[in-house]
Amino acid sequence: MKIGIDIDDVVTESGKCVIEHAQKHEHLYCDNQEITSNLKDLIRGNLINDPMKKFVRAYVAQLWESVELKPNAVKTLSKIKSKGHQLIFITSRSSSMDANCEKITYEYFKKHKIPYDKIIFGVHDKKQTCLDEKIDIFIDDSVDFCNYILSSTDIDVYLFNSEINKDLPCDAKRIYSWPELEEIINAQ
Ligand SMILES: [Mg+2]
Repeated sequence: MKIGIDIDDVVTESGKCVIEHAQKHEHLYCDNQEITSNLKDLIRGNLINDPMKKFVRAYVAQLWESVELKPNAVKTLSKIKSKGHQLIFITSRSSSMDANCEKITYEYFKKHKIPYDKIIFGVHDKKQTCLDEKIDIFIDDSVDFCNYILSSTDIDVYLFNSEINKDLPCDAKRIYSWPELEEIINAQ
């Protein structure tokens, strides 16, 4: 099977790292709380004011280099790959956010021994990419992407639970850990 996987907040703890960094360093970008009062938008990439734009420009490369991995992500991905499944990472990370985006991401995957068959960057229409790649199972933390792909394709879609999506309704099945996903894939 071909598994389509988002990176941020699925493989990595990006949201948690962004929130911690924003809480510590917001004073460098603004005097009021223009960043921490809009954390959901910040994590979703909706940069609705200048301090948020400056914060992301200054921090995103460091985030991609140093972000923590989710528990069991690498171990589970390795097991899935060893069973012959293909791992296609589909991310909206792009060089418009930082010129070294692809280099940093490939180096991060190498450093942490994250197995992959392909990483596709700068994707804003994940449905089209999933169809082009003939993805069988798709995992993302974005409710919008999950609902959209689930409603208009035959792809099996899963929402990875996160701090910012935990209270949002989603038509896709919500999963909370990598071992849970492994069980689902093994049962197919
Ligand atoms: Mg994500």
